[in-house]
Formats: sequence, C-alpha cells, structure tokens
Amino acid sequence: MAMRINETCIACGACEPECPTNAISEGDEIFVIDESACVECQGHFDSPRCVEVCPTDSIHKAE
Ligand code: SF4
Ligand code: SF4
Repeated sequence: MAMRINETCIACGACEPECPTNAISEGDEIFVIDESACVECQGHFDSPRCVEVCPTDSIHKAE
C-alpha cells in the first residue's frame, strides 16, 4: 500500500513538503517515495496529497 513516482517526474519538489509521513525525498534524477513510509495519506488527507500537487501526474499506486 504505497504510491510510486514514475519517470515523468520533472523533480519540481512540490510533493516533498506535502507528505505527512516524510516519505518523499530527492533521488538521483527524480523524486522517490519510501514505500515503507507511505500510508497513501490515510488518516491525514482524503486522498494522496502528493498526487494532488504533482503538476505532471507522475504519482500512481505502486503495483
Ligand atoms: S500518498 Fe501521502 S503518505 Fe504517501 S507519499 Fe504521497 S503524500 Fe506521502
Ligand atoms: S510533484 Fe511530481 S514532478 Fe514534482 S517532484 Fe513530485 S513527483 Fe516529481
């Protein structure tokens, strides 16, 4: 149960400060989500906050 950032990320950084569990950090080229820390925003927001703020629709459920 986690979200994942795909290769269309433009590394804008908008999602990182929005995450209530500090699961997002800057990787080598794109931002990455620590899937052990992501709770899909349950208990914090009605829907995944990172998805809402991402301008490139780069964040989706991890398969
Ligand atoms: S879904 Fe919520 S908890 Fe998971 S990475 Fe995005 S902002 Fe953080
Ligand atoms: S908001 Fe979207 S484009 Fe910006 S760093 Fe996060 S995943 Fe990448």
